[in-house]
Amino acid sequence: MGRQISIWGATGSIGTQTLDVIARNPDRFRIHTLTTHSNPEPLLRQASRFRPRQVVITGPCDRPRWEAAFRNVGVSCLFDKSGLLEAAASPVDLAVNALVGAVGLEATLLAVDAGADIALANKEVLVMAGELVVRRIRRQGVRLLPVDSEHSAIFQCLAGEPEGRIRRILLTASGGPFLNRPASEFESITPEEALAHPNWVMGKKVTIDSSTLMNKGLEVIEARWLFDLRPEQITVVIHPQSIVHSMVEFEDGSIKAQLGQPDMRVPIAYALSFPDRWEGPWGSQDFSRPFALQFQPPDLDRFPGLRLAFAAIETGGTAPAVFNAADEVAVALFLDRKIRYPQIAELVERALDAHGTMESPDLEQILRADRETRERIWNEYGHP
Ligand code: NDP
Ligand code: MG
Repeated sequence: MGRQISIWGATGSIGTQTLDVIARNPDRFRIHTLTTHSNPEPLLRQASRFRPRQVVITGPCDRPRWEAAFRNVGVSCLFDKSGLLEAAASPVDLAVNALVGAVGLEATLLAVDAGADIALANKEVLVMAGELVVRRIRRQGVRLLPVDSEHSAIFQCLAGEPEGRIRRILLTASGGPFLNRPASEFESITPEEALAHPNWVMGKKVTIDSSTLMNKGLEVIEARWLFDLRPEQITVVIHPQSIVHSMVEFEDGSIKAQLGQPDMRVPIAYALSFPDRWEGPWGSQDFSRPFALQFQPPDLDRFPGLRLAFAAIETGGTAPAVFNAADEVAVALFLDRKIRYPQIAELVERALDAHGTMESPDLEQILRADRETRERIWNEYGHP
């Protein structure tokens, strides 16, 4: 009959690509829940096609209208964050968390408690609460399957390897659109320029984060928890072609890499098929023509977000949650043209400096650190 699957954030970039993978494997899944924040119209089209048991609209909307529209296609409709949490607590085989930002943390914990494996795109969950989430995952004996392409690459490199033999991981980063832009020009970077990523088409938040390397910073923290690594075991490498998705160096000096076209459906499909692999119609790397792969170290002066991420791991406790919250608000302010580009990293640095870290925080303490960080920035710059 197929595995029961829920997709949170179904209308986003990862969500729609997940549905594309499912559409190619129709007999393998039954869809339990699909969610959107502010796009009920596309969600209705998805519901008509994929026939989930229920949908959730978390943002403000005309409830009676949408309730009726979904009822017409035989699908029940929940609302608000409370609807998302209710859906997350229903037992399914696999929950795909393709939400963006901090919102996915509570839902993830509820789904783990309900016994679901988690396919995680929403890296902010591990950044905010890695210790808590990993402990809960172990206790419940469920799987945490990375969707982020770098982490999927590392996960694939580790298949069949003995435990505890990693010297370090090499997280690759494209370097984004400003890889070669001098620091003196960063002041004038516009949201439009920052939203034009050279290799990947993604949601706005992660696209801006890729341009500042804040995304790589979030991924460093994500990797630390996913693969139980010390910060000194994580090296970031700029690789503009985005073909090597990341690498693992083992204790004997061997380096394994995972390569492929930059297409998120590959890591999504791996998370859905693991430990199997399914046929995918997407591109093959063309080796019939010459091409080069380049690697270089990142420039931490122009991209201080990476340095701040390592500092947040070293501090530990609630510091990564503060890093995450400050970045989320700063990106929204930048997109709203309320701050200039270099201020994104400045706001994150100031938030980390202003925060009194709590060790081994529980969920409530993490959510409070998140909220207080946002409020402190909103008080100064206004609510986006
Ligand atoms: P998108 O912005 O494209 O989609 C996010 C989804 O979450 C949408 O369905 C959106 O609803 C929903 N959503 C947004 N805000 C809320 C909220 N407050 N409450 C509930 N739902 C909400 O993001 P992406 O798909 O790009 O990214 C998702 C996650 O995956 C991020 O953590 C990102 O870092 C990570 N990721 C993304 C990659 C990519 O290629 N896109 C690559 C690797 C990781 P709505 O329909 O209203 O927009
Ligand atoms: Mg990534």
